[in-house]
Amino acid sequence: MENCIFCKIINGEIPSNKVYEDDDILAFKDINPVTPVHILIIPKKHINSLNDIEPEDEKIIGKIFLKIKQIAKEQGIAENGYRIVNNCGEDGGQEVQHLHFHLLGGKKLGTKIV
Ligand code: AMP
Ligand code: ZN
Repeated sequence: MENCIFCKIINGEIPSNKVYEDDDILAFKDINPVTPVHILIIPKKHINSLNDIEPEDEKIIGKIFLKIKQIAKEQGIAENGYRIVNNCGEDGGQEVQHLHFHLLGGKKLGTKIV
């Protein structure tokens, strides 16, 4: 989608520090990490937010979570644990309107979600 920063990362217009890529998924390091490991996992298909997923996206969402499990292991944070965050919409604090999941880990996270 035009003017979507993550679509531009997918098509190479904007550089990124890629961690994983296949036909459906891209994972790259967050430009402003809040934890020692902070990776964004996105579908290559432009989906605005979690509010916009459809039954046809069931497979890609499942694939993303299986990939998150693998990336966490590769990053060495699987055993100690990690957090997956999806910010949805204005109240959820979503800044980039392309569905993404934050993989946060590498330190003991706070116990509060908000
Ligand atoms: P959210 O608030 O959930 O929409 O998060 C958007 C995230 O995208 C933030 O953590 C930003 O640091 C990150 N971000 C924005 N632009 C880039 C970029 N060019 N490369 C990597 N991460 C980015
Ligand atoms: Zn996009």
